[in-house]
Amino acid sequence: MKKIIIANWKMNPETPREAENLSREISTASKSFKNVEVVISPAFIHASAIKGIKLGAQDVFWEKSGPYTGEISVRQLKSCGTKFVIVGHSERRVLGETNEEINKKIKAVLESGIKAVLCVGEIEKEKEAVFPAIIHQELKEGLKNIKKNFLKNLIIVYEPVWAISTHGRADSPKNVFEMSVLIRRELLKMFGKKIAFSIPILYGGSVDEKNAADFVNHGRVNGLLVGAASLNSKRFIEILKRVSGL
Ligand code: PEP
Repeated sequence: MKKIIIANWKMNPETPREAENLSREISTASKSFKNVEVVISPAFIHASAIKGIKLGAQDVFWEKSGPYTGEISVRQLKSCGTKFVIVGHSERRVLGETNEEINKKIKAVLESGIKAVLCVGEIEKEKEAVFPAIIHQELKEGLKNIKKNFLKNLIIVYEPVWAISTHGRADSPKNVFEMSVLIRRELLKMFGKKIAFSIPILYGGSVDEKNAADFVNHGRVNGLLVGAASLNSKRFIEILKRVSGL
């Protein structure tokens, strides 16, 4: 199975021209890397700058249409060619997004046939012997009452907040492996073996060209969510190259 590499551009870059240039460089290079599925999640306003590569979104609203100023619907995203939607990113959770809202968003995305990328992760770096309760809760509440046949389009990202480049530094591949096993175990309890083993688990948090291959190789994740390093085409292309070459 191809490794999934999702670029999360957050509130960058500033201009459409920069977005177009960055996207073009990445999409041209990515064509020669056969073992990776590459997705760029720009700010909504830059969606049309993303060509020749899969388009992602950083958020969505759960209602179909109507008086929701500032929001964007799954249908609107779909009509622009969006294939993946990040939901429950910690930078949205910190602004007040709840697991209940995340659950509505995940349902809306999955029902539309788009892939939902659910981010989970603890806030503090605690090397607990037990699975952090916060992740258990994020999975349980975020994935509540989701019909099993929609789960083929679900992706989970283990992204501990403390490891995001603006907060700290990357986790270790060993810990990522352990956490992914625990997440998979949690999915197994919720949905059974067949589904649990079919859901890709990605890692996010200070991924760069030096550590990317290690996370996939030793952390044994199915892909990566990349923030800061995805805003530099050289660095991001190097990540793609190294992961694709594994
Ligand atoms: C993110 O916040 O989704 C992320 C992956 O950021 P960074 O790579 O900059 O840690």
